Amino acid sequence: MATKAVLATKAEVIAREKAVRRTCRGPLAKGAREKINQLLSGGKDEAARTLDESSRQRCGHDLNEIFLTGPLDGEIHKYKCPSCGVDGTYRAALAV
Ligand SMILES: [Zn+2]
Repeated sequence: MATKAVLATKAEVIAREKAVRRTCRGPLAKGAREKINQLLSGGKDEAARTLDESSRQRCGHDLNEIFLTGPLDGEIHKYKCPSCGVDGTYRAALAV
């Protein structure tokens, strides 16, 4: 007997997603993107991750505020941080 996938309601999804803290990491320092891309293309993923982390100008804006007020359609959406202006994408949670 096949199990039926049960989609969560919007309220359930919002409650679940809010439990995960998602904050803006802020913009990258000038020139860091190029160095990070060089490390990535050289297969040095861990070094790239470390440089990315240390090159961020901490913002801390609560991104759940954006992610959970948009459509909960499971699709990828663009956003711009209202505090620091960083652009990004996120995959929305899916609700019925
Ligand atoms: Zn920000």
